[in-house]
Amino acid sequence: MPFGTHTKILATIGPSSATKEKIAELIDAGADAFRINFSHGTYDEHKERIKIIRKLEKEKGKVIAILADMQGPKLRVGNFKEEKVWLEEGQRFTFDMKNTLGDASRVCLPHKEIFAAVKVGDKLLVNDGYIVLDVVKATKSIIETVVKVGGYISSHKGVNLPNTKLKISAVTEKDKKDIKFALKNEVDWIGLSFIQRVEDILEVKKLIGNRAKIISKLEKPSAIEDLDNIVRESDAIMVARGDLGVECPLPTVPVLQKRIVKRCRMYAKPVIIATQMLESMIINPTPTRAEVSDVATAVYDGADTVMLSAETAAGKYPVEAVKMMHSIIDQVESDPLFFELMNSSRRRPFAADEADAITYAASELSGTLKNLKAIVSFSSSGFTTFLTARERPDLPILALSPSLKVARQMAIVWGVKPYVNKSSFKMFSNVEKYAIKHVKKIGLAKAGDHIIITAGFPLSIKGRTNLLHTIKIK
Ligand code: PGA
Ligand code: MN
Repeated sequence: MPFGTHTKILATIGPSSATKEKIAELIDAGADAFRINFSHGTYDEHKERIKIIRKLEKEKGKVIAILADMQGPKLRVGNFKEEKVWLEEGQRFTFDMKNTLGDASRVCLPHKEIFAAVKVGDKLLVNDGYIVLDVVKATKSIIETVVKVGGYISSHKGVNLPNTKLKISAVTEKDKKDIKFALKNEVDWIGLSFIQRVEDILEVKKLIGNRAKIISKLEKPSAIEDLDNIVRESDAIMVARGDLGVECPLPTVPVLQKRIVKRCRMYAKPVIIATQMLESMIINPTPTRAEVSDVATAVYDGADTVMLSAETAAGKYPVEAVKMMHSIIDQVESDPLFFELMNSSRRRPFAADEADAITYAASELSGTLKNLKAIVSFSSSGFTTFLTARERPDLPILALSPSLKVARQMAIVWGVKPYVNKSSFKMFSNVEKYAIKHVKKIGLAKAGDHIIITAGFPLSIKGRTNLLHTIKIK
């Protein structure tokens, strides 16, 4: 691929990667977007990191997306007297709402919604699912359990309830504050953790309007049950395999990954595969064969973006991890089988309106028109670009948007090279001229080559794609 890879890399910023030098190295290694994890760090740290990314974006002339990832209703136990307590298989253990230090028989669980919803027979998982507890008695103030799988429990460990539909919103008070902060600091995407139902997304949409786009993180079985509606209402999806693998049986995770990717492609929504992609690179300079294979599989599946978490946030080899990810993507995309797979998994768009028809046809042209070098997608909301990328054409998709925010949002979309173009071009001939000038300037096409334009014309109309145009450059 002479013009960068199609599949994008999202790298989480953390203590290992927070300096300007390191972030610059991550960009040079192939990072297209950065995640600020609001489960960790202070506002001052977030602000500083966003400032550095924006500075580098300018210096390097590459449009970069920033995702503010919300903690969501992550449930945690209270504090223990001792540093840690061993829970033995078969013993009883109680959760209550008493504000006193825990021991080997009980601990505070400071979430009244859990007590309201838990039923006998439900499962409670603690510490990333290592400890499994069966609920044997449940009242409004006490949950009695029997330890099914034992282990150490300690203060603030996370709790997952895979079989319980909790009456809690996916946005906590902390999230609301964090979203406000994130929007003020001009992030492009907001990540929502532990969403359970489509209403969770609608609630946040009301809050943020079009100031950012929403990534729904799928990590609860109840979200999977409502997959179609959730994908439809989200702007993008994350397969959050960390918590998903705690909430659902582990062997179902790869199956769900494929199902989710397929749904996202159907609805033309970008999809990110996340967590433990190159996990061993947190401490080693090279990954395991299985990890390399996992990244490759995500790319072959047709993911838009692959994500690095602790590898770049807290690991010893953040730059090496991005480089490794980039070369895996490069290898897969150079394999002829890759585009064969992308092509054979294309479906006739189900909505079959003019936007679907035009972007589908653009991709058809890419397989027939000789010397075709790029699809130039003029898109003010990103809608046309999403649809164009959905077809997975073997060509760079240049997304030109009048909005810097939309251009940045497009940085996580498969195959898309985002640019800002402020002009609204009253005459179509000027659109044409601009597209030609642009592809020549970035060295993508020369005299004799073809390019395609997809757009909604006039360019000021949002969410409408009505134009497909081929150009032979003179
Ligand atoms: P997290 O989300 O890292 O914020 O928990 C990703 C995941 O659960 O996989
Ligand atoms: Mn998670």
